[in-house]
Amino acid sequence: MSAEQIFDVLIVGAGHAGAQTAITLRSLGFEGTIALVGDEPELPYERPPLSKEYLSGEKPFERIQLRPASYWAEKNLVLIQGHRVVSVHSANHEVTLSNGATLSYRSLVWAAGGDPRKLSCPGAGLQGVHGVRNRADVDAIMSALPNVDRVVVVGGGYIGLEAAAVLSKLDKQVVLLEALPRVLARVAGEALSNFFADEHRAHGIDLRTDAAVVELTGDERVTGVVLGSGETIAADMVIVGIGILPSVQPLFDAGASGTNGVLVDAQCRTSLPDIFAIGDCAAHPNDFADGDVIRLESVQNANDMAAVAAKAICGQEAVYKATPWFWSNQYDLKLQTVGLSTGHDETVMRGDPDSRSFSVIYLKAGKVIALDCVNNVRDYSHGRRLVELGVSVDATHLADTSRMLKEWTVTEPLA
Ligand code: FAD
Repeated sequence: MSAEQIFDVLIVGAGHAGAQTAITLRSLGFEGTIALVGDEPELPYERPPLSKEYLSGEKPFERIQLRPASYWAEKNLVLIQGHRVVSVHSANHEVTLSNGATLSYRSLVWAAGGDPRKLSCPGAGLQGVHGVRNRADVDAIMSALPNVDRVVVVGGGYIGLEAAAVLSKLDKQVVLLEALPRVLARVAGEALSNFFADEHRAHGIDLRTDAAVVELTGDERVTGVVLGSGETIAADMVIVGIGILPSVQPLFDAGASGTNGVLVDAQCRTSLPDIFAIGDCAAHPNDFADGDVIRLESVQNANDMAAVAAKAICGQEAVYKATPWFWSNQYDLKLQTVGLSTGHDETVMRGDPDSRSFSVIYLKAGKVIALDCVNNVRDYSHGRRLVELGVSVDATHLADTSRMLKEWTVTEPLA
């Protein structure tokens, strides 16, 4: 890489969104020069297995790479690995890397994801305290695990719960701490939260809600977690899964609009000329949130935004209006969600949670806005259409498992 090299498309961040942008550009026939700058040393890889099959050892790293190693050179995609973009000079169409090199671009795609939020309490920097965002984080956890019996997981979101499930399978003693009154509080209704809390407890996890961490104790290495109640929980390892902060400071320094993430329009364009932002770091108006500006942290969103930005760069018409979906695997449970349940005013339980195959349907003003489906692929695929159409369906019909959800996508049920 020579200083002041110019690329037709420069992509910052070689994660899901960045890699997918490059892949889509080539599949659309874009022949210009493309470079991906990523601060991780690895080839682009899937992040979801980090808290699932990679952590458990079921999938080696080679099996979670987004493309085989040969792909990038074959497609003439330049990978600049292990370097961070530290500043953006939008007037000159240039970025500066952590090694001082300058790269020029015609279009810049910012796909830098987020940095894991850290605990702010005393002891947060002790050895044995881990985040779960990238391969290096999980490799550090895996290499320490043989000498660890007691793990405290801080955070009852998807990542904390998935990590807890894997650790319990690995026969570790796990305490999971959630500061709010229930797990998954930000993303799901109470019935689903209660179901997953019960499952984890049944698998031996000591799951505690309303449990705020005020201090981590230990000399160099963590040995305990102090709660607001004054109780200290012994720990050989602490895993922190309390969300991310969008990785966007260089864009803000360059004058981009936004607060929680960089603000983009329906083509994923930021307020800066020829700069797009996509994936976890992009705040966008979303139809499924009544047009509110939100960030989505999902592979679906990363891939769909990448497709929009790639098409826009190719001069094709593209508008981001993808249906949000997400999945989570815990034990033998596969959760699939579609839509956004935020703001729901009614929930319908479809099926019996004790059967471990059921769905929770969320409505707002009578319309179906989201589903959480546990071990229930059929409801997920049929219910998706209800969400996309925003269909109004009577709650008793939705709860009736003798009828398939797809029957309610038309005004009158099929005979
Ligand atoms: P990322 O994939 O995070 O990629 C961003 C990349 O940019 C990173 O490599 C980062 O290091 C790099 N970077 C940051 N700043 C700079 C810079 N200044 N210069 C250069 N490079 C930079 N989603 C699901 O849909 N289902 C799941 O089951 C699921 N499970 C998950 C489990 C875990 C453990 C994690 C961490 C995430 C999970 N997600 C899941 C979320 C999903 O992985 C993310 O939404 C997705 O990776 C977002 O893609 P992205 O490209 O925006 O960000």
